[in-house]
Amino acid sequence: MNDLRHQIKVTEAGLPADGLGCHAGDQMQAAARAAGNSELLDGFARDYPQGPHDKPQSMCPAFGSLRVGLRMRRVATVLSGSACCVYGLTFVSHFYGARRSVGYVPFNSESLVTGKLFEDIRDAVHELADPDRYDAVVVTNLCVPTASGVPLKLLPSEINGVRIVGIDVPGFGVPTHAEAKDVLAGAMLRYAREEIMAGPVQAPAQGKSDRPTVALLGEMFPADPMMIGAMLAPMGLAAGPVVPCREWRELYAALDCGVVAAIHPFYTAAIREFQAAGRTVVGSAPVGHDGTMGWLKSIGEAYGIAGEKIAAAQNAFGPAIKAALAATPITGRITLSGYEGSELLVARLLIESGADVPYVGTACARNDWSAVDREWLEAKGVAVKFRASLEDDLAAMEGFKPDLAIGTTPVVQKAKAQGIPSLYFTNLISARPLMGPAGAGSLAQVVNAAIAGKTRMEGMKAFFAGVGEGDTAGIWEGSPNLRPDFRAIHQKKLDKAAKAAKAEEMI
Ligand code: SF4
Repeated sequence: MNDLRHQIKVTEAGLPADGLGCHAGDQMQAAARAAGNSELLDGFARDYPQGPHDKPQSMCPAFGSLRVGLRMRRVATVLSGSACCVYGLTFVSHFYGARRSVGYVPFNSESLVTGKLFEDIRDAVHELADPDRYDAVVVTNLCVPTASGVPLKLLPSEINGVRIVGIDVPGFGVPTHAEAKDVLAGAMLRYAREEIMAGPVQAPAQGKSDRPTVALLGEMFPADPMMIGAMLAPMGLAAGPVVPCREWRELYAALDCGVVAAIHPFYTAAIREFQAAGRTVVGSAPVGHDGTMGWLKSIGEAYGIAGEKIAAAQNAFGPAIKAALAATPITGRITLSGYEGSELLVARLLIESGADVPYVGTACARNDWSAVDREWLEAKGVAVKFRASLEDDLAAMEGFKPDLAIGTTPVVQKAKAQGIPSLYFTNLISARPLMGPAGAGSLAQVVNAAIAGKTRMEGMKAFFAGVGEGDTAGIWEGSPNLRPDFRAIHQKKLDKAAKAAKAEEMI
Protein backbone atom coordinates (compact mmCIF):
# COMPACT_ATOMS: atom_id res chain seq x y z
CA MET A 1 0.00 0.00 0.00
CA ASN A 2 2.69 2.40 1.01
CA ASP A 3 4.68 1.55 -2.07
CA LEU A 4 1.73 2.28 -4.27
CA ARG A 5 1.05 5.51 -2.44
CA HIS A 6 4.68 6.42 -2.86
CA GLN A 7 4.44 5.94 -6.60
CA ILE A 8 1.28 7.98 -7.05
CA LYS A 9 2.35 10.50 -4.41
CA VAL A 10 -0.91 10.62 -2.50
CA THR A 11 -1.14 11.04 1.25
CA GLU A 12 -3.60 9.36 3.61
CA ALA A 13 -5.80 12.44 3.38
CA GLY A 14 -6.04 12.06 -0.38
CA LEU A 15 -3.72 14.97 -0.95
CA PRO A 16 -0.88 14.87 -3.46
CA ALA A 17 2.29 15.41 -1.43
CA ASP A 18 3.59 17.88 -3.94
CA GLY A 19 2.26 19.70 -6.93
CA LEU A 20 -0.35 21.55 -4.85
CA GLY A 21 0.68 25.06 -4.05
CA CYS A 22 -0.63 28.34 -2.81
CA HIS A 23 -3.71 28.25 -5.04
CA ALA A 24 -5.03 24.85 -4.06
CA GLY A 25 -6.61 26.20 -0.89
CA ASP A 26 -9.91 24.32 -1.16
CA GLN A 27 -8.28 20.92 -1.61
CA MET A 28 -5.76 21.65 1.15
CA GLN A 29 -8.55 22.77 3.49
CA ALA A 30 -10.54 19.61 2.83
CA ALA A 31 -7.46 17.47 3.39
CA ALA A 32 -6.58 19.28 6.61
CA ARG A 33 -10.10 18.74 7.95
CA ALA A 34 -9.95 15.08 6.95
CA ALA A 35 -6.63 14.84 8.80
CA GLY A 36 -8.26 16.09 12.03
CA ASN A 37 -7.29 19.77 11.82
CA SER A 38 -10.84 21.21 11.78
CA GLU A 39 -10.42 22.90 15.15
CA LEU A 40 -7.25 24.63 13.97
CA LEU A 41 -8.91 25.89 10.77
CA ASP A 42 -12.02 27.08 12.63
CA GLY A 43 -9.72 28.98 15.01
CA PHE A 44 -7.97 30.67 12.07
CA ALA A 45 -11.36 31.55 10.54
CA ARG A 46 -12.35 33.23 13.82
CA ASP A 47 -9.05 35.07 14.30
CA TYR A 48 -8.47 36.02 10.67
CA PRO A 49 -11.86 36.23 8.93
CA GLN A 50 -11.43 35.92 5.20
CA GLY A 51 -13.11 37.33 2.12
CA PRO A 52 -13.57 38.62 -0.41
CA HIS A 53 -10.43 36.79 -1.48
CA ASP A 54 -9.17 33.78 0.39
CA LYS A 55 -6.04 32.85 -1.49
CA PRO A 56 -2.64 34.37 -0.82
CA GLN A 57 -2.21 37.36 -3.13
CA SER A 58 1.04 38.33 -1.54
CA MET A 59 4.12 36.43 -0.47
CA CYS A 60 3.74 33.15 1.41
CA PRO A 61 2.05 34.00 4.73
CA ALA A 62 4.52 31.84 6.65
CA PHE A 63 7.18 34.46 5.96
CA GLY A 64 5.60 36.56 8.72
CA SER A 65 6.04 33.97 11.46
CA LEU A 66 9.43 32.90 10.10
CA ARG A 67 10.70 36.47 10.35
CA VAL A 68 9.39 36.88 13.89
CA GLY A 69 11.26 33.74 14.99
CA LEU A 70 14.45 34.66 13.14
CA ARG A 71 14.58 38.06 14.80
CA MET A 72 14.58 36.59 18.29
CA ARG A 73 17.80 36.00 20.13
CA ARG A 74 18.47 32.41 21.20
CA VAL A 75 15.56 31.01 19.20
CA ALA A 76 16.01 28.30 16.57
CA THR A 77 13.59 28.06 13.69
CA VAL A 78 12.64 24.87 11.86
CA LEU A 79 10.35 24.63 8.84
CA SER A 80 8.45 21.56 7.78
CA GLY A 81 6.99 21.84 4.29
CA SER A 82 7.53 21.28 0.59
CA ALA A 83 11.10 21.97 -0.51
CA CYS A 84 9.99 24.64 -2.98
CA CYS A 85 8.12 26.54 -0.23
CA VAL A 86 11.11 26.30 2.10
CA TYR A 87 13.47 27.41 -0.66
CA GLY A 88 11.33 30.49 -1.29
CA LEU A 89 10.93 31.31 2.38
CA THR A 90 14.61 30.98 3.23
CA PHE A 91 15.53 32.99 0.13
CA VAL A 92 13.25 35.85 1.17
CA SER A 93 14.35 35.71 4.79
CA HIS A 94 18.00 36.06 3.77
CA PHE A 95 17.09 38.74 1.25
CA TYR A 96 15.67 40.66 4.20
CA GLY A 97 18.85 40.22 6.19
CA ALA A 98 18.26 37.19 8.44
CA ARG A 99 21.74 36.34 9.63
CA ARG A 100 20.59 32.99 10.94
CA SER A 101 20.14 29.49 9.52
CA VAL A 102 16.65 28.16 8.98
CA GLY A 103 16.28 24.52 9.95
CA TYR A 104 14.46 22.21 7.56
CA VAL A 105 13.09 18.74 8.02
CA PRO A 106 12.58 17.36 4.52
CA PHE A 107 9.92 14.80 3.69
CA ASN A 108 8.72 12.68 0.87
CA SER A 109 5.35 11.08 0.24
CA GLU A 110 6.31 8.02 2.22
CA SER A 111 7.55 9.79 5.33
CA LEU A 112 4.44 11.97 5.24
CA VAL A 113 2.08 8.99 4.97
CA THR A 114 3.75 6.75 7.50
CA GLY A 115 4.19 9.38 10.20
CA LYS A 116 7.98 9.21 9.86
CA LEU A 117 8.01 12.97 9.18
CA PHE A 118 6.74 13.63 12.68
CA GLU A 119 9.46 11.36 14.08
CA ASP A 120 12.07 13.20 12.00
CA ILE A 121 10.83 16.53 13.34
CA ARG A 122 10.95 15.19 16.89
CA ASP A 123 14.51 13.95 16.36
CA ALA A 124 15.54 17.30 14.89
CA VAL A 125 14.07 19.15 17.84
CA HIS A 126 15.90 16.88 20.32
CA GLU A 127 19.14 17.49 18.45
CA LEU A 128 18.65 21.25 18.46
CA ALA A 129 17.48 21.66 22.05
CA ASP A 130 20.77 22.78 23.57
CA PRO A 131 20.08 25.09 26.55
CA ASP A 132 23.51 26.73 26.12
CA ARG A 133 22.45 27.99 22.70
CA TYR A 134 18.68 28.30 22.75
CA ASP A 135 15.76 29.43 24.90
CA ALA A 136 13.25 28.08 22.43
CA VAL A 137 12.86 26.11 19.20
CA VAL A 138 10.01 27.08 16.89
CA VAL A 139 8.74 24.44 14.48
CA THR A 140 6.40 25.55 11.71
CA ASN A 141 4.16 23.31 9.63
CA LEU A 142 3.64 24.81 6.18
CA CYS A 143 0.73 23.95 3.86
CA VAL A 144 1.28 20.26 3.08
CA PRO A 145 2.18 19.05 6.62
CA THR A 146 -0.76 21.04 8.01
CA ALA A 147 -3.11 19.58 5.41
CA SER A 148 -1.78 16.13 6.31
CA GLY A 149 -2.25 16.68 10.02
CA VAL A 150 1.39 16.33 11.14
CA PRO A 151 0.71 16.68 14.89
CA LEU A 152 3.18 19.26 16.22
CA LYS A 153 1.16 19.49 19.42
CA LEU A 154 2.51 16.04 20.29
CA LEU A 155 6.06 17.39 20.46
CA PRO A 156 7.40 17.69 23.99
CA SER A 157 6.72 21.21 25.31
CA GLU A 158 10.25 21.41 26.65
CA ILE A 159 13.54 19.55 26.22
CA ASN A 160 16.47 20.20 28.59
CA GLY A 161 14.87 23.51 29.54
CA VAL A 162 14.50 24.59 25.89
CA ARG A 163 10.90 25.48 25.07
CA ILE A 164 9.41 23.83 21.98
CA VAL A 165 6.76 25.85 20.18
CA GLY A 166 4.96 24.14 17.30
CA ILE A 167 2.70 26.17 15.00
CA ASP A 168 0.74 25.55 11.82
CA VAL A 169 0.89 28.42 9.32
CA PRO A 170 -0.88 27.25 6.18
CA GLY A 171 -1.62 29.66 3.34
CA PHE A 172 -5.14 28.22 3.22
CA GLY A 173 -5.90 29.30 6.79
CA VAL A 174 -3.77 32.35 7.49
CA PRO A 175 -4.51 34.96 4.82
CA THR A 176 -1.54 37.36 5.13
CA HIS A 177 2.05 37.30 6.34
CA ALA A 178 1.06 40.02 8.82
CA GLU A 179 -1.39 37.68 10.51
CA ALA A 180 1.18 34.87 10.49
CA LYS A 181 3.30 37.06 12.78
CA ASP A 182 0.37 36.97 15.16
CA VAL A 183 0.20 33.17 15.02
CA LEU A 184 3.73 32.90 16.44
CA ALA A 185 3.47 35.92 18.75
CA GLY A 186 0.23 34.51 20.17
CA ALA A 187 1.70 31.02 20.62
CA MET A 188 4.76 32.42 22.43
CA LEU A 189 2.65 34.66 24.68
CA ARG A 190 0.46 31.70 25.58
CA TYR A 191 3.52 29.63 26.47
CA ALA A 192 4.99 32.49 28.53
CA ARG A 193 1.68 33.13 30.29
CA GLU A 194 1.49 29.47 31.33
CA GLU A 195 5.06 29.69 32.62
CA ILE A 196 4.14 32.77 34.69
CA MET A 197 1.15 30.97 36.14
CA ALA A 198 3.31 27.98 37.04
CA GLY A 199 5.89 29.94 39.06
CA PRO A 200 8.54 32.68 39.08
CA VAL A 201 10.08 33.68 35.74
CA GLN A 202 13.13 35.68 34.62
CA ALA A 203 13.07 39.45 35.18
CA PRO A 204 13.65 41.78 32.20
CA ALA A 205 17.34 42.10 31.22
CA GLN A 206 17.36 45.84 31.96
CA GLY A 207 15.37 45.47 35.20
CA LYS A 208 11.75 46.25 35.97
CA SER A 209 10.53 49.77 35.15
CA ASP A 210 9.66 51.93 38.15
CA ARG A 211 6.71 53.34 36.19
CA PRO A 212 3.60 51.58 34.86
CA THR A 213 4.34 50.38 31.34
CA VAL A 214 2.50 50.09 28.03
CA ALA A 215 3.29 47.07 25.84
CA LEU A 216 3.50 47.95 22.15
CA LEU A 217 1.96 45.46 19.76
CA GLY A 218 3.36 45.52 16.24
CA GLU A 219 6.73 45.74 14.51
CA MET A 220 7.68 49.36 13.97
CA PHE A 221 10.59 51.60 13.06
CA PRO A 222 13.26 51.26 15.80
CA ALA A 223 12.97 54.92 16.89
CA ASP A 224 9.17 54.77 17.28
CA PRO A 225 9.10 53.01 20.68
CA MET A 226 11.53 55.68 22.02
CA MET A 227 9.29 58.44 20.69
CA ILE A 228 6.26 56.76 22.26
CA GLY A 229 8.15 56.47 25.58
CA ALA A 230 8.88 60.19 25.52
CA MET A 231 5.20 60.97 24.89
CA LEU A 232 4.07 58.71 27.75
CA ALA A 233 6.52 60.21 30.27
CA PRO A 234 4.42 63.29 31.22
CA MET A 235 1.66 60.88 32.33
CA GLY A 236 4.11 59.00 34.54
CA LEU A 237 4.08 56.02 32.18
CA ALA A 238 6.79 54.24 30.20
CA ALA A 239 6.93 52.23 26.98
CA GLY A 240 7.15 48.48 27.62
CA PRO A 241 8.48 45.82 25.27
CA VAL A 242 7.49 45.63 21.61
CA VAL A 243 5.67 42.42 20.70
CA PRO A 244 6.79 40.43 18.64
CA CYS A 245 9.70 40.41 21.10
CA ARG A 246 13.41 40.08 20.42
CA GLU A 247 14.10 37.84 23.39
CA TRP A 248 12.06 35.25 25.30
CA ARG A 249 12.12 37.00 28.68
CA GLU A 250 10.62 40.15 27.09
CA LEU A 251 7.41 38.14 26.75
CA TYR A 252 7.07 38.08 30.54
CA ALA A 253 7.69 41.83 30.74
CA ALA A 254 5.08 42.43 28.01
CA LEU A 255 2.52 40.35 29.88
CA ASP A 256 3.37 42.35 33.00
CA CYS A 257 2.25 45.66 31.38
CA GLY A 258 -1.14 46.89 32.61
CA VAL A 259 -2.09 48.33 29.23
CA VAL A 260 -1.36 47.05 25.72
CA ALA A 261 -1.31 49.38 22.71
CA ALA A 262 -2.46 47.48 19.62
CA ILE A 263 -0.45 49.74 17.29
CA HIS A 264 -1.02 47.16 14.59
CA PRO A 265 -4.59 45.93 14.90
CA PHE A 266 -4.36 42.44 13.44
CA TYR A 267 -2.70 40.71 16.43
CA THR A 268 -5.88 38.94 17.51
CA ALA A 269 -4.26 35.84 19.05
CA ALA A 270 -1.74 37.98 20.96
CA ILE A 271 -4.54 40.26 22.19
CA ARG A 272 -6.44 37.22 23.40
CA GLU A 273 -3.44 36.25 25.54
CA PHE A 274 -3.10 39.76 26.97
CA GLN A 275 -6.80 39.85 27.77
CA ALA A 276 -6.58 36.44 29.41
CA ALA A 277 -3.85 37.96 31.61
CA GLY A 278 -6.31 40.74 32.55
CA ARG A 279 -4.66 43.51 30.51
CA THR A 280 -6.50 46.43 28.89
CA VAL A 281 -6.04 46.78 25.13
CA VAL A 282 -6.16 50.15 23.34
CA GLY A 283 -6.39 50.44 19.53
CA SER A 284 -4.87 52.97 17.07
CA ALA A 285 -1.49 54.73 17.46
CA PRO A 286 0.02 58.16 18.09
CA VAL A 287 0.21 59.22 14.43
CA GLY A 288 -0.31 62.81 13.29
CA HIS A 289 -1.93 65.41 15.53
CA ASP A 290 -5.44 63.97 15.95
CA GLY A 291 -4.14 60.43 16.27
CA THR A 292 -1.60 61.33 18.95
CA MET A 293 -4.04 63.41 20.98
CA GLY A 294 -6.68 60.68 20.89
CA TRP A 295 -4.22 57.90 21.63
CA LEU A 296 -2.63 59.65 24.63
CA LYS A 297 -6.13 60.20 26.04
CA SER A 298 -7.13 56.54 25.55
CA ILE A 299 -3.91 55.25 27.13
CA GLY A 300 -4.16 57.72 30.03
CA GLU A 301 -7.77 56.75 30.68
CA ALA A 302 -6.96 53.04 30.48
CA TYR A 303 -4.46 53.61 33.29
CA GLY A 304 -6.84 55.95 35.22
CA ILE A 305 -4.42 58.90 34.87
CA ALA A 306 -5.75 62.31 36.00
CA GLY A 307 -7.10 64.57 33.23
CA GLU A 308 -4.50 67.28 33.80
CA LYS A 309 -1.63 64.85 33.35
CA ILE A 310 -3.14 63.61 30.11
CA ALA A 311 -3.51 67.24 29.00
CA ALA A 312 0.13 67.86 29.97
CA ALA A 313 1.27 65.04 27.68
CA GLN A 314 -0.96 66.33 24.88
CA ASN A 315 0.27 69.89 25.29
CA ALA A 316 3.89 68.80 25.38
CA PHE A 317 3.68 67.21 21.93
CA GLY A 318 0.62 68.59 20.09
CA PRO A 319 2.21 71.90 18.97
CA ALA A 320 5.43 70.17 17.82
CA ILE A 321 3.43 67.72 15.71
CA LYS A 322 1.36 70.52 14.17
CA ALA A 323 4.52 72.47 13.39
CA ALA A 324 6.20 69.43 11.78
CA LEU A 325 3.13 68.71 9.65
CA ALA A 326 2.90 72.33 8.53
CA ALA A 327 6.63 72.51 7.75
CA THR A 328 6.51 69.48 5.45
CA PRO A 329 3.23 69.58 3.54
CA ILE A 330 2.24 66.99 0.95
CA THR A 331 0.17 68.10 -2.02
CA GLY A 332 -1.45 65.65 -4.37
CA ARG A 333 -3.86 62.75 -4.64
CA ILE A 334 -2.61 59.42 -3.29
CA THR A 335 -4.14 55.94 -3.33
CA LEU A 336 -2.67 53.65 -0.72
CA SER A 337 -2.72 49.89 -0.24
CA GLY A 338 -0.64 47.22 1.41
CA TYR A 339 -0.54 44.04 3.46
CA GLU A 340 1.45 45.19 6.50
CA GLY A 341 -1.60 46.15 8.60
CA SER A 342 -0.40 49.73 9.19
CA GLU A 343 -2.05 51.20 6.07
CA LEU A 344 -4.75 53.09 7.97
CA LEU A 345 -2.16 54.78 10.20
CA VAL A 346 -0.08 55.89 7.21
CA ALA A 347 -3.21 57.23 5.49
CA ARG A 348 -4.02 59.33 8.55
CA LEU A 349 -0.55 60.83 8.51
CA LEU A 350 -0.72 61.60 4.77
CA ILE A 351 -4.10 63.30 5.15
CA GLU A 352 -2.91 65.42 8.08
CA SER A 353 0.08 66.38 5.94
CA GLY A 354 -2.33 67.78 3.35
CA ALA A 355 -2.63 64.91 0.86
CA ASP A 356 -5.92 63.95 -0.76
CA VAL A 357 -6.30 60.22 -0.04
CA PRO A 358 -9.51 58.86 -1.57
CA TYR A 359 -8.78 55.14 -1.07
CA VAL A 360 -7.01 52.92 1.48
CA GLY A 361 -6.87 49.18 0.94
CA THR A 362 -5.47 46.74 3.47
CA ALA A 363 -5.14 42.98 3.09
CA CYS A 364 -5.91 42.60 6.80
CA ALA A 365 -9.39 42.12 8.23
CA ARG A 366 -11.60 44.74 9.87
CA ASN A 367 -11.80 44.45 13.64
CA ASP A 368 -12.41 46.49 16.80
CA TRP A 369 -8.79 47.57 17.10
CA SER A 370 -8.79 49.48 13.82
CA ALA A 371 -12.22 51.05 14.41
CA VAL A 372 -10.89 54.44 15.60
CA ASP A 373 -8.71 54.83 12.50
CA ARG A 374 -11.44 53.61 10.15
CA GLU A 375 -13.97 56.05 11.61
CA TRP A 376 -11.50 58.95 11.38
CA LEU A 377 -10.70 58.14 7.75
CA GLU A 378 -14.33 57.61 6.76
CA ALA A 379 -15.25 60.94 8.33
CA LYS A 380 -12.74 62.49 5.91
CA GLY A 381 -14.49 60.79 2.98
CA VAL A 382 -11.88 58.03 2.48
CA ALA A 383 -13.05 54.68 1.08
CA VAL A 384 -11.49 52.10 3.43
CA LYS A 385 -11.38 48.56 2.11
CA PHE A 386 -10.45 45.69 4.42
CA ARG A 387 -9.32 42.38 2.94
CA ALA A 388 -8.76 44.37 -0.23
CA SER A 389 -7.81 42.25 -3.21
CA LEU A 390 -5.26 43.26 -5.82
CA GLU A 391 -8.21 43.88 -8.14
CA ASP A 392 -9.72 46.36 -5.62
CA ASP A 393 -6.42 48.23 -5.34
CA LEU A 394 -5.95 48.39 -9.10
CA ALA A 395 -9.54 49.51 -9.66
CA ALA A 396 -9.03 52.32 -7.13
CA MET A 397 -5.88 53.41 -8.93
CA GLU A 398 -7.61 53.39 -12.32
CA GLY A 399 -10.67 55.15 -10.94
CA PHE A 400 -9.05 57.88 -8.83
CA LYS A 401 -6.15 58.61 -11.19
CA PRO A 402 -3.78 59.55 -8.35
CA ASP A 403 -0.62 61.63 -8.52
CA LEU A 404 1.00 58.81 -6.55
CA ALA A 405 0.05 55.18 -5.99
CA ILE A 406 1.50 53.62 -2.84
CA GLY A 407 1.02 49.88 -2.90
CA THR A 408 2.27 46.34 -3.23
CA THR A 409 4.62 45.17 -6.01
CA PRO A 410 1.92 44.41 -8.62
CA VAL A 411 0.16 47.73 -7.94
CA VAL A 412 3.43 49.63 -8.35
CA GLN A 413 4.22 47.67 -11.50
CA LYS A 414 0.87 48.56 -13.05
CA ALA A 415 1.22 52.19 -12.00
CA LYS A 416 4.64 52.43 -13.64
CA ALA A 417 3.28 50.95 -16.85
CA GLN A 418 0.67 53.71 -16.85
CA GLY A 419 3.20 56.44 -16.10
CA ILE A 420 1.82 57.04 -12.58
CA PRO A 421 4.47 57.71 -9.92
CA SER A 422 4.42 54.94 -7.34
CA LEU A 423 6.09 53.75 -4.15
CA TYR A 424 6.32 50.33 -2.52
CA PHE A 425 4.49 50.39 0.78
CA THR A 426 6.59 47.73 2.50
CA ASN A 427 10.09 48.92 1.65
CA LEU A 428 9.67 52.66 1.33
CA ILE A 429 6.75 53.68 3.53
CA SER A 430 6.33 51.23 6.40
CA ALA A 431 10.08 51.34 7.15
CA ARG A 432 9.94 54.95 8.38
CA PRO A 433 9.16 56.55 11.71
CA LEU A 434 5.46 57.27 11.97
CA MET A 435 4.84 58.16 15.62
CA GLY A 436 4.51 61.58 17.24
CA PRO A 437 6.58 64.58 16.11
CA ALA A 438 9.27 62.34 14.54
CA GLY A 439 6.71 60.70 12.28
CA ALA A 440 4.91 63.91 11.35
CA GLY A 441 7.40 65.01 8.72
CA SER A 442 8.97 61.69 7.81
CA LEU A 443 6.85 60.80 4.78
CA ALA A 444 6.89 64.17 3.04
CA GLN A 445 10.35 63.94 1.50
CA VAL A 446 9.92 60.55 -0.17
CA VAL A 447 6.30 61.18 -1.16
CA ASN A 448 6.89 64.65 -2.61
CA ALA A 449 9.97 63.48 -4.51
CA ALA A 450 7.94 60.64 -6.05
CA ILE A 451 5.06 62.94 -7.01
CA ALA A 452 7.53 65.36 -8.59
CA GLY A 453 8.74 62.51 -10.83
CA LYS A 454 5.50 62.55 -12.85
CA THR A 455 7.04 64.22 -15.93
CA ARG A 456 9.94 61.78 -15.86
CA MET A 457 7.51 58.86 -15.68
CA GLU A 458 5.58 60.24 -18.66
CA GLY A 459 8.82 60.69 -20.59
CA MET A 460 9.81 57.08 -19.91
CA LYS A 461 6.35 55.83 -20.87
CA ALA A 462 6.55 57.67 -24.19
CA PHE A 463 10.11 56.48 -24.79
CA PHE A 464 9.28 52.81 -24.17
CA ALA A 465 5.81 52.89 -25.77
CA GLY A 466 5.02 49.57 -27.40
CA VAL A 467 8.16 47.85 -26.10
CA GLY A 468 7.72 44.83 -23.88
CA GLU A 469 3.94 44.96 -24.07
CA GLY A 470 1.52 42.41 -25.45
CA ASP A 471 2.99 40.69 -28.52
CA THR A 472 6.30 42.52 -28.13
CA ALA A 473 6.94 41.17 -24.61
CA GLY A 474 10.18 39.17 -24.39
CA ILE A 475 13.26 39.27 -26.60
CA TRP A 476 12.76 39.36 -30.37
CA GLU A 477 15.42 39.57 -33.04
CA GLY A 478 12.87 40.54 -35.68
CA SER A 479 9.22 41.42 -35.49
CA PRO A 480 7.02 38.99 -33.57
CA ASN A 481 5.60 36.30 -35.80
CA LEU A 482 1.89 36.92 -35.29
CA ARG A 483 -0.60 34.20 -36.24
CA PRO A 484 -4.12 35.46 -35.56
CA ASP A 485 -5.51 32.31 -37.21
CA PHE A 486 -3.74 30.10 -34.64
CA ARG A 487 -5.04 32.31 -31.88
CA ALA A 488 -8.60 32.02 -33.13
CA ILE A 489 -8.35 28.20 -33.24
CA HIS A 490 -6.86 28.11 -29.73
CA GLN A 491 -9.57 30.44 -28.42
CA LYS A 492 -12.23 28.13 -29.87
CA LYS A 493 -10.64 25.20 -28.03
CA LEU A 494 -10.66 27.13 -24.77
CA ASP A 495 -14.29 28.14 -25.22
CA LYS A 496 -15.23 24.54 -25.93
CA ALA A 497 -13.41 23.30 -22.82
CA ALA A 498 -15.11 25.97 -20.71
CA LYS A 499 -18.52 24.93 -22.06
CA ALA A 500 -17.79 21.26 -21.33
CA ALA A 501 -16.69 22.11 -17.76
CA LYS A 502 -19.90 24.11 -17.25
CA ALA A 503 -22.03 21.26 -18.57
CA GLU A 504 -20.25 18.83 -16.23
CA GLU A 505 -20.97 21.11 -13.27
CA MET A 506 -24.68 20.95 -14.05
CA ILE A 507 -24.86 17.14 -14.13
S1 SF4 B 1 3.63 27.11 2.38
FE1 SF4 B 1 3.46 29.14 1.44
S2 SF4 B 1 4.53 28.91 -0.55
FE2 SF4 B 1 4.04 26.86 0.20
S3 SF4 B 1 2.04 26.32 -0.74
FE3 SF4 B 1 1.65 27.21 1.30
S4 SF4 B 1 1.27 29.40 0.93
FE4 SF4 B 1 2.30 28.57 -0.89
